[in-house]
Amino acid sequence: MRPLSIGAARIDTVLEIETIPMPFAQFLPDSVPELIASERQWLVPRYADAALRQGFLTFHTYVIRHAGRTILVDTCMGNDKDRGGHPIFHGLRTNWLGELDALGVHPDAVDYVMCTHMHGDHVGWNTRLANGRWVPTFPNARYVFARREFEARESAWRADNSASYGSFTDSVLPVVESGQADLVASDHEIEGLLQLEAAPGHTPGNVVIHLRSQHAHGIFSGDTIHHPLQVKYPEWSSAFCEDPAASAACRRRFVETHSDTATLILPAHFPLPTAGHIRSDGDRWRYAFVD
Ligand SMILES: [Zn+2]
Repeated sequence: MRPLSIGAARIDTVLEIETIPMPFAQFLPDSVPELIASERQWLVPRYADAALRQGFLTFHTYVIRHAGRTILVDTCMGNDKDRGGHPIFHGLRTNWLGELDALGVHPDAVDYVMCTHMHGDHVGWNTRLANGRWVPTFPNARYVFARREFEARESAWRADNSASYGSFTDSVLPVVESGQADLVASDHEIEGLLQLEAAPGHTPGNVVIHLRSQHAHGIFSGDTIHHPLQVKYPEWSSAFCEDPAASAACRRRFVETHSDTATLILPAHFPLPTAGHIRSDGDRWRYAFVD
């Protein structure tokens, strides 16, 4: 994807997996086939298969560069992770680090790593395997996590490693133990550029991340919305949402708040080109991709 600008900030995307097809009936269990069929014109072929049974998701990281700072938002699955219960994500060997390097970003030069929440596909590249140990991939970075998310995860996931498919142990705790984690309030601000906002529902401490520069505004929306169909139907929570009702309420507020504004939305799993605007469409909304 070509770089985007939000004010003086440059935004690039590092792809880990370009397309994973997932049956709508499985990942959007409340979705209605007849309503999906009426969206065929824009869904096929980019965002769904021709039979409209499967939606497409991507896995990517956003790279923000601004005023000499380099910031990553959500770090995908990572390489070499043991995800025995999750065959798609198990033992990946992708060129994610090479793609980051191709953008001119060396791991030493990353200043902040931000994770919207702690599901395994958002924390994976926080660490890499070195001599049989998980070490921070970005040795000079501060890793920013919402304290609420960490505390909710810690109590459950330290006791049962399988609950996070191992990601808490191999991709979050090593960063905490290295002293590089900042556990922050859910409205934490970074250098006048970025600010968290609580968006609970998908996970207990889920956040979206606002970027403001020179009167321009963008939002890294993480998994608050998984697929562009949910802009039209925010009541369809994903199967990955831990509190589907809260997630639906949060998503609806998000769509209403940012509809017909200049705010650029940067979701975690929309197929390329990923970024876009929310527009009102009759009594609902649609997603207008920035091509
Ligand atoms: Zn995700």
